[in-house]
Amino acid sequence: MARQLNSATRDALVERVRFYRDLGLTEFYRRPVDPALLAAVEAAEAAGEIQPQAAPVAAAEPAATLFAELQPSPSQENHPNSPRTPLTAALEVAAEVSAADHAAALNIIREEIGDCTRCVLHKGRHKLVFGDGDPNARLMFVGEGPGADEDAQGLPFVGRAGQLLNNMIGAMGLKREQVYIANVVKCRPPGNRTPEPEEGNTCSPFLFKQIDVVRPQVLVALGATAATYLLGRRQPLAGLRGRVHAFRGSQLIVTYHPAYLLRDPRQKKEAWADLQIAMRELGLKLPSKK
Ligand code: SF4
Repeated sequence: MARQLNSATRDALVERVRFYRDLGLTEFYRRPVDPALLAAVEAAEAAGEIQPQAAPVAAAEPAATLFAELQPSPSQENHPNSPRTPLTAALEVAAEVSAADHAAALNIIREEIGDCTRCVLHKGRHKLVFGDGDPNARLMFVGEGPGADEDAQGLPFVGRAGQLLNNMIGAMGLKREQVYIANVVKCRPPGNRTPEPEEGNTCSPFLFKQIDVVRPQVLVALGATAATYLLGRRQPLAGLRGRVHAFRGSQLIVTYHPAYLLRDPRQKKEAWADLQIAMRELGLKLPSKK
């Protein structure tokens, strides 16, 4: 039988939902009620051991009322990267989270993802790769998706491409622990293929939430897939590199994916030029010209 929440529980739940919304978390799922637990509660009520709740109401009414103000707006549903709209509420920049709460807010996003089966990529996953690094980083890198090493370890950029990324970060005068790293999709595409649009569109709102929490001053998109999902349009990398874009309050710079640089090391010079744009925006000391 459907049950109505008492006012104290309801108020506490509304407060909790508002807290999550302030963190940028706007998608909620209800677990089915455990019939055994419900039967036990009803038996306890019948025995007078606990007070029964108020009169039953239609099943959907409490959640509909609680969550009505949290539905995505029509403008959110029309985002160019969202032919499906499973998580589009994340497309608006979320309210700022205080720096002290960044780590906790990222944990909440990780909990929201859970043991995710929202797209087919979960089928081949060994470990979901959420993200790694300083929750308060001024610099954030966004890649495409986990490879075999990342899938095995549950961490982004830990294989050969990751080693090169570490070197790139070091060349900027930073340590890996000082930046934040995440991907467009959090589960490894089979054979390291490019994520399908449905996969990227389903998973990328979680990335947007991570960006909203970390609020890096500078974002670096590693490769065309990351650039496409961050900028919301598909465009050749050549037309996106070499300048500063705006994205969700951050300055976005586009460069080559380290895996591409491993295949074509001649482009490392170009990538270094891109990273120097990021360094300039961050106020980092640029290497002196010889
Ligand atoms: Fe879920 Fe993202 Fe993994 Fe797809 S790629 S199953 S949306 S976590």
